[in-house]
Amino acid sequence: MMAEQTLIRCAVIGQPIAHSKSPPIHQAFARQFGLQHDYQKIDCAPEQFAATVQQFFADGGRGLSVTLPHKPAALALAAQASDRAQLAGAANTLGVDSNGAIWADNTDGIGLVRDLARLGIGVKGQRVLVLGAGGAAAGILPALQAEQPAALALFNRTPANAVPLLKRFAGVQLATAADAPYSLVISTVSSGAAAMLATLPLQAGGSGYDLNYGERAEPALTAMRALGLSGCHDGRGMLIEQAAVAFARWHGLTPDTAPLHAGGF
Ligand code: NDP
Repeated sequence: MMAEQTLIRCAVIGQPIAHSKSPPIHQAFARQFGLQHDYQKIDCAPEQFAATVQQFFADGGRGLSVTLPHKPAALALAAQASDRAQLAGAANTLGVDSNGAIWADNTDGIGLVRDLARLGIGVKGQRVLVLGAGGAAAGILPALQAEQPAALALFNRTPANAVPLLKRFAGVQLATAADAPYSLVISTVSSGAAAMLATLPLQAGGSGYDLNYGERAEPALTAMRALGLSGCHDGRGMLIEQAAVAFARWHGLTPDTAPLHAGGF
């Protein structure tokens, strides 16, 4: 007789959280391996974050995906953090080691780069423009830099908010209207991308990517296309790829993301 599998508990924690697409993605991965897997959404106010996370792991939870506004706090409460989480100053993935110590990782950057590769968009040698200077921008900059773009520039509505990132990532510039055209534009702003793009030099036929997905990506993608970019994509694929890296860290199993990109969640 086969031993009964223990239920593995994971969750995504944020506020707001109702919109999160992480549960169906992780459940689809778990089905690939026949894991008995429960993946819930946890709505959590900032002041409750540390206690909620500690209780989740004390109760035997395996892994937490972390989203707005908790990513910097997630890094701060972990006993150990990956280099990419430390570089980003934020974590989107938490787990526990065999001693019960909480570790932190940031899979946003690798998720983006893997999705760009899947879409046939190389970063190496491109002039890359990142819109926004929040947590998502911090998460993707180290991964983009590692791909050796010809230039990597930031543009933010509030220039002062970009200063910490410019200090942290040597070689990243503030984009201006006088720059040579950018061939790959990545928007991380929650809104307002269209107005920003209209002021910046873009290379006709270049590529665009918005970390938002579905309807929320439409204004940025429409503006990118109107300004001459031809390969433009939303952030759904990044969401799948960053989740796959987190899943592999928690369970030691590498899921096949292809069925999910094909619409299977
Ligand atoms: P933050 O709140 O940390 O940053 C928001 C950024 O958006 C800031 O640069 C802010 O500029 C800018 N912004 C907000 N409103 C406007 C506006 N009206 N006009 C111009 N700029 C504006 O959010 P995150 O960086 O954590 O996340 C950004 C987005 O990326 C979210 O929508 C999130 O859902 C998405 N995301 C998607 C992922 C995926 O896997 N696809 C992964 C991670 C994030 P300012 O400094 O001037 O306020």
